[in-house]
Amino acid sequence: MKVCILGTGYVGLVTGACFANMGNDVICADIDEKRIEGLNKGEVELPFWEPGLDDLVRDCARAGRLTFTSDIGEAIRAAAFQFIAVGTPQGDDGAADLSAVFAAAREIGRNIASYSVVVDKSTMPVGTAAKVKAIVAEEVERRVARGEERVEFDVVSNPEFLKQGSAVLDFEKPDRIVIGVDGERSEKLMRELYAQFVRSNNPILVMDIPSAEMTKYAANAMLATRISFMNEMAQICERVGADITHVRAGIGSDERIGQKFLYAGLGYGGSCFPKDVQALYHRALEADYGPKILKAVHEVNQSQKGFMARRLIKHFENGHGRGETPPPGECRVALWGLSFKPETDDMREAPSLVIMDILTEAGMRVSVFDPKAMGKGLEAIEKFIPADRRERIEPAGDMYDALSGADALFLVTEWNEFRSPDFGRIKELLKTPVIFDGRNIFDPKRMIESGFDYHCIGRLLEKP
Ligand code: NAD
Repeated sequence: MKVCILGTGYVGLVTGACFANMGNDVICADIDEKRIEGLNKGEVELPFWEPGLDDLVRDCARAGRLTFTSDIGEAIRAAAFQFIAVGTPQGDDGAADLSAVFAAAREIGRNIASYSVVVDKSTMPVGTAAKVKAIVAEEVERRVARGEERVEFDVVSNPEFLKQGSAVLDFEKPDRIVIGVDGERSEKLMRELYAQFVRSNNPILVMDIPSAEMTKYAANAMLATRISFMNEMAQICERVGADITHVRAGIGSDERIGQKFLYAGLGYGGSCFPKDVQALYHRALEADYGPKILKAVHEVNQSQKGFMARRLIKHFENGHGRGETPPPGECRVALWGLSFKPETDDMREAPSLVIMDILTEAGMRVSVFDPKAMGKGLEAIEKFIPADRRERIEPAGDMYDALSGADALFLVTEWNEFRSPDFGRIKELLKTPVIFDGRNIFDPKRMIESGFDYHCIGRLLEKP
């Protein structure tokens, strides 16, 4: 099959590489010329870090099944499937900004050379496929008016459910493949394209287009709701003397609830949950419904991102019963983890940015370390933290380097290398043995026995 992918981000590049790996002929196009230049280098340069993707892209590129171009028209003319995998970020009013989708649709209408299936892969609010169809049709009609032959096309919705950090595996072995169609021709072709990815336990779910569009938002809204729900439970646990880890085990063993996605922490970030919850909220408002749950999910998340940073500041303001703790303005905090979750270097909507903003505003200095996101992290800091406070943030060479001369360790992202650190060394390097564990990864009993002043989320701490 000849496949064109518009957009070489997390979704576009993974989709392109995985289809190419199955023997399809894939051409990926992006308006970002630097990105394409890197992908076209002999030693392919990926625009982001994603486990397993670099080898896959290199192998498929070497085999000639995966090519890259910034000539969008050329890519479209060469293919029969036109995947739109461009960004759909949050607009100023909270609704999804669909300008990149519509620009891609226009290029498709201007360039399709034969019958094409236009695939909405990006996350797009209900009703977008109809708009994409109208734009492509308008451009096709313009060509007909100029004397060209009419080219037919269908638009389908095929939302993506991959997770950054395990994107290749998720694409190759999806839980389900959702396809929204309005005709048999496009359904048959989509089924053929995905045939190699279907196993007995992962159905292709074919449905109408609006339901497919809505499915993606409902899935992300449900996952975000679980996170905000558990964060709210953790806040209540702290105040009533219960332990969220026991509560999680207690409710997770109920099959109807399940064990996954029940962790209290610093709130959800990334390029999907925050903007998708907001986009769904706004789409519902357009349809004259004011969502109550989505509003609460968002509000809980906003306060959860910063609550531990505020608690850390209070800890130092109070002197915490020890005369030697410095006031916040003279404090240095070691921050472990910048990316919004482990196994990715993505900084979009990362809680670490909110935390650094709060800490530096209180006059604190912050030394940061992340195993993979130092580059993207520093770029994000440039954009997010006001210029006069940026010099308070210093990159560290490794996780222990960050601790030198710091008054507290703040664990923000639960990378595996942070899970079993050398606690003796941590204690030696910190000026005061204070740990704020934003992901509940350390054992409270052990922390307290080792003499740490340990802070976590919603767990019982038995002080010796
Ligand atoms: P991204 O920002 O990483 O990549 C988008 C790419 O599209 C960029 O490289 C950009 O230059 C390119 N682009 C923009 N306009 C273009 C145009 N007119 N023609 C060609 N290329 C263009 O985005 P992403 O994270 O891959 O997300 C893409 C979509 O997939 C979004 O709707 C997102 O919500 C959805 N999604 C993302 C994930 C994820 O984990 N990142 C998972 C599922 C769904």
